[in-house]
Amino acid sequence: MTSRTSRRPLWAGLLLLIALPSLAADGGGVVSWKDQVARISAGADTGARGQAITGRLDALGLAWRGEDFEQKEKQGRNLLVDLGGPEGAPLLLIGAHYDRVAVGHGATDNASGSAAVLELAERLKARPLSHHRVQIAFWDLEEAGLLGSHAYVTTPGREKPALYVNFDVFGWGDTLWMMSPQADTPLVGALRKGSETRGLGFQPGEHYPPTDHLAFLKQEWPAVSFSLVGGGEIDPILAVFSGKSPENPPKVMQVIHSPRDTVAELDDGRVDDALDVIEQGLRDWDAGAR
Ligand SMILES: [Zn+2]
Repeated sequence: MTSRTSRRPLWAGLLLLIALPSLAADGGGVVSWKDQVARISAGADTGARGQAITGRLDALGLAWRGEDFEQKEKQGRNLLVDLGGPEGAPLLLIGAHYDRVAVGHGATDNASGSAAVLELAERLKARPLSHHRVQIAFWDLEEAGLLGSHAYVTTPGREKPALYVNFDVFGWGDTLWMMSPQADTPLVGALRKGSETRGLGFQPGEHYPPTDHLAFLKQEWPAVSFSLVGGGEIDPILAVFSGKSPENPPKVMQVIHSPRDTVAELDDGRVDDALDVIEQGLRDWDAGAR
């Protein structure tokens, strides 16, 4: 419907004024993954991106803390949330980097993964796991060389998690791509089954682009990582990261670290399915843990 009205009635302006503050603090109501990606991507710098995340955490009633660090003469700030769980239970850590490169808006890389982690935090707060405590992390300075996650894992006295689950590039497509050092673990099995049920592609494997899970693996701490992409993109992405130039560059490599990395490139068609599959996979994994 097209409106030809050029003058907005006064009451409409007043309503807008009343509505704005409640939009800024969303009150903990439903915020779609895509809207959350837009909020994070709108931030002009890492600090503003972090405020979009902590604003949502505040709205959800999730207490967070900033952990400042210095690595390679750069200052950064990880954001950490403790969702709690059974006392003395092993730790499940779930995270994504929230910083971005200078060019573009970092929507795919990695507001998309940060919004996925916020969504899982909300779900795991509403229905906690039985056998694991859960903590959530948003890493700074991934783009500068995994500095935030490295600072985290090398902090003296840090608790080694039973598993770290990373999210990076979760913006479109029909295939759940999972970095898993082992091909057949209970978690991989649960995700394969869940993906089949939902008609979602599932590709686990050890070859995967560098991101924060590497800081954990370097400590010999167990870690996996998830992306949501087009199934046909995976092989060409790996080709690019092994130094080749495929004839048809995959969309991911055209978008990230470029002016094209905006919300316009996102497609949320399979995001909810993918998050459902991951949530259920983690619940199955948790139920099988002894
Ligand atoms: Zn990234």
